[in-house]
Amino acid sequence: MSAYDYDLFTIGAGSGGVRASRMAAMAGARVGIAEEYRVGGTCVIRGCVPKKLLVYAAEFGHAFHEAKGYGWTAQNVSFDWTKLIENKDEEIDRLNGIYIRNLKNAGVDIFETRAVVKGPHTVHLVKEGRDVTAERILIAAGGAPWVDESVPGHELAITSNEAFHLERLPKHVIIAGGGYIAVEFACIFRGLGAEVCLVYRGEDILRYFDRDISVQVHEELKRLGVRVVTQAVFEKIEKLSGDEKRAYLSNGHHIDADLIFWAVGRRPNTAGLGLEEAGVALGRNGAVKVDEWSRSSVPSIFAIGDVTDRVNLTPVAIREGAAFAETEFMGRPTKMDYDFIPKAVFSTPPVGSVGYPEHEARKRFASVDIYKTDFRPMKNTLSGAEHRTLMKLVVDGESDRVVGVHIVGEGAPEMIQCLAIAVKAGVTKRQFDETCALHPTSAEELVLMREKFVPEMKIAP
Ligand code: NDP
Repeated sequence: MSAYDYDLFTIGAGSGGVRASRMAAMAGARVGIAEEYRVGGTCVIRGCVPKKLLVYAAEFGHAFHEAKGYGWTAQNVSFDWTKLIENKDEEIDRLNGIYIRNLKNAGVDIFETRAVVKGPHTVHLVKEGRDVTAERILIAAGGAPWVDESVPGHELAITSNEAFHLERLPKHVIIAGGGYIAVEFACIFRGLGAEVCLVYRGEDILRYFDRDISVQVHEELKRLGVRVVTQAVFEKIEKLSGDEKRAYLSNGHHIDADLIFWAVGRRPNTAGLGLEEAGVALGRNGAVKVDEWSRSSVPSIFAIGDVTDRVNLTPVAIREGAAFAETEFMGRPTKMDYDFIPKAVFSTPPVGSVGYPEHEARKRFASVDIYKTDFRPMKNTLSGAEHRTLMKLVVDGESDRVVGVHIVGEGAPEMIQCLAIAVKAGVTKRQFDETCALHPTSAEELVLMREKFVPEMKIAP
């Protein structure tokens, strides 16, 4: 019997912490887990899951208009924000209950409290006012929205945490940022009928994606009626009367809105967690520094998920948690494999992407072939919707291996999940060509791209 209270104590019951804790407990370890907010973490409680429900709600908004071209007449259509939020909350409560049940069924002790690290084997449970000891401690505390506190009036704007609990649908929204959250919420609020303005400090939104994706999404946002202001940041936010606020921008303009939203990135949740005092080295933005086994600079303390700021996606945190449990409690040393992780942005239309963007592939491979197509999907012929679909293949010219697939268009995330299997398995462009098309679909275009894309050459006069 170990001298410690637990074999594993996990701080943070989000996707990664829950997966690691359950697997360790099912392998026979004595496991405790502390959560200061709600079991389920960002993804389930105030991230991916409620976001996707709001995305569905926004899509219905477009569907009513688009159905007209197909002969439908929808009368007295109205939207009830309160109803949507109530139904969403009910679903989140259900999922929260499942997460709690799964932990309990695996034999994990749940502590509803903030926990801080007091030493290599000691955790302090704040609400209970006592310490527990554990052979291993797992930090899975996730991340939190970052706000630029140097901007006067910054507190007048919300973050994604509050966006899921607004009392009413705003009429006019200004969103700062050009990443996942900014783009997704711009499309949600626009789809539900609000006027939306996106304020981005650079030129290309979604700049970590392939440049064709950035440009296409930028165009689609404009088609949707989202105003995109580039090369600007908030300088000051001021309260006007009622719910109205005014955002002053660095380009000299100002915009009024009843909701202002920070979506300028997230930071690891390590402040006040006692990590540095316990000897755990932190890196950029306070992220826990870990090795390939998710072990921190203190051998008994591990960290997984957004708190390590590696690849901040739920399925990655889950796999890091699983790899940790397999290595430490199941006798199967396992490292997380970060190659070819599929990504999606749930914009309107959405993005799906796996592998290298063209600009990264050109740095990595001696020769790169590009195939791309941009078309109006069949559904939009009668609906009159103007959204287009873009598909792009990035191919290593020497091996013929497809090393990147990037899509903007209806169904892109679903397509990319399947394509990621083939890309990870090393599929070649020739094997794409050998695959029979499935007609009529948008996805068939993926196996019908024969002509290499040759950029237009500017001929000197
Ligand atoms: P992102 O890192 O995606 O984007 C942050 C945006 O804010 C970027 O456009 C960035 O500009 C801009 N920015 C950063 N600092 C400043 C600043 N000081 N002033 C003005 N603008 C600034 O973060 P998000 O908050 O959108 O999302 C956080 C993370 O959550 C994502 O990285 C992703 O891992 C995860 N997520 C994933 C989703 C999905 O899988 N669908 C959905 C939502 C979140 P620049 O580009 O110039 O750096």
